[in-house]
Amino acid sequence: MNKKIIIANWKLNGSIQLLQNLLKPISDFVKMNHISSKVIIAPPSVYLNQAYNIVLNTNVIIGAQNVDVNSFGAFTGEISVNMLKDINIRYVIVGHSERRLHHQENNILIAKKFEVVKHAKLIPILCIGETDKDYNLYTTQRVCQKQIDIIFDLLGETAFCNTIIAYEPIWAIGSKKIPSLNYIQDMCCFIKDYILKQQNINKKSFFIQYGGSVNENNIQQLCKIPDVDGFLIGSVSLSLNKFLKILKTISIDK
Ligand code: PEP
Repeated sequence: MNKKIIIANWKLNGSIQLLQNLLKPISDFVKMNHISSKVIIAPPSVYLNQAYNIVLNTNVIIGAQNVDVNSFGAFTGEISVNMLKDINIRYVIVGHSERRLHHQENNILIAKKFEVVKHAKLIPILCIGETDKDYNLYTTQRVCQKQIDIIFDLLGETAFCNTIIAYEPIWAIGSKKIPSLNYIQDMCCFIKDYILKQQNINKKSFFIQYGGSVNENNIQQLCKIPDVDGFLIGSVSLSLNKFLKILKTISIDK
């Protein structure tokens, strides 16, 4: 059975009201329909604890959108892996392109965050992907390889054991444009093979997501791509009807 992992990134959107109007019905839906796919919702950090309590006793999991590399101390405004563990959060998005762009996070910092998350025995969701310039220059594979290599350099050959990698072409995020299905398959297959070549682990010990303008209309096609283990969804995850349609589609498409 092909169980997809669905990750919803709420980005800088959310409120106590939204937890009730969006998260609560999603978790009720997952529970009532016995959706067995992993559904991970990443709200802004101030809502993590409340969100965790809303989804308690359902299959929905709450994840964080970001974490600091430091564990404690004079780092105003940051949150640490220990704080996430303290409130039972196990999944953390690392290296989202918006963090790379708006917060100047480079491959080295992202690799350190990935390391901190793994050492804390949490599960990193590493975002990698090319810009439209890279895409037009046909350098996508080289760019992704670099984003992966730096993590191997820091963590050694078991770096990607028990992790999720979200392949997200930056030009597809929020643009309503997706690459061709063949292109997504080729890239996800490339990433999988590249990681397996560097390390002696089972291919089931890590997962490859596709992210970038996934919606309720294209999900059925995207589900057919063999090397895609699931999806990271941004804007559409904020619409209850559209997100539930996606969950329905992936649960039928097994
Ligand atoms: C994202 O931000 O990771 C993302 C995939 O966004 P969207 O679905 O809106 O393209």
